[in-house]
Amino acid sequence: MYHILIFGPPGVGKGTQSQLIAEKKNLFHLSTGEYLRKAIDEETTLGKKAKDIVEKGLLVPDDIMIGIVAEALKANLDGKDGFILDGFPRTLDQAKALEVIFKEMGFNDIIIIYLKADENELVTRLVKRGRKDDTEEIIRHRLKIYIDSTEPIIDYYRSFSEVKEICGVGEIEDIFSNICEKLR
Ligand code: ADP
Repeated sequence: MYHILIFGPPGVGKGTQSQLIAEKKNLFHLSTGEYLRKAIDEETTLGKKAKDIVEKGLLVPDDIMIGIVAEALKANLDGKDGFILDGFPRTLDQAKALEVIFKEMGFNDIIIIYLKADENELVTRLVKRGRKDDTEEIIRHRLKIYIDSTEPIIDYYRSFSEVKEICGVGEIEDIFSNICEKLR
């Protein structure tokens, strides 16, 4: 069983690598960003609530995100060999709530992957990607939120768990094989 959390700044390639890992290891892949974008496209109640927040590059409230993740983990693990969470937790409160969810569900062996790249590389990649929240101004803002809210969580996990750091710059296949190496 693999219970993986993948961290890294916007644009580092978490989504791409998560998908590859999920395919290879038969995991449920939950990208909270993708989940929200789908809700926004489908104009669901959640989507209507989240639209403005996501498009401005702000964080959707913790209670909403925690509910989504708890539900999704409960509903999607049948037939899977674990999960990879991509984009969650993003705040310390989300991390603490996740601890409770994991305890309830009996997961105690969590693997932490931390993908890294420098800021200029990230901004260049994201501007090219051109999603609605990928204008330079919003990207800089998302990076700031990442540094203020999400990076401290990595230190939190470091205090009781190994954090597997991987360089997110280079060929997709090479980065993927570095991750696989660290998962062995
Ligand atoms: P990126 O990592 O490139 O910023 P994501 O697809 O992970 O992109 O997330 C896009 C947006 O979705 C975020 O900027 C935020 O508005 C919202 N979002 C995703 N996950 C969370 C979360 N765990 N908590 C709050 N907001 C979230």
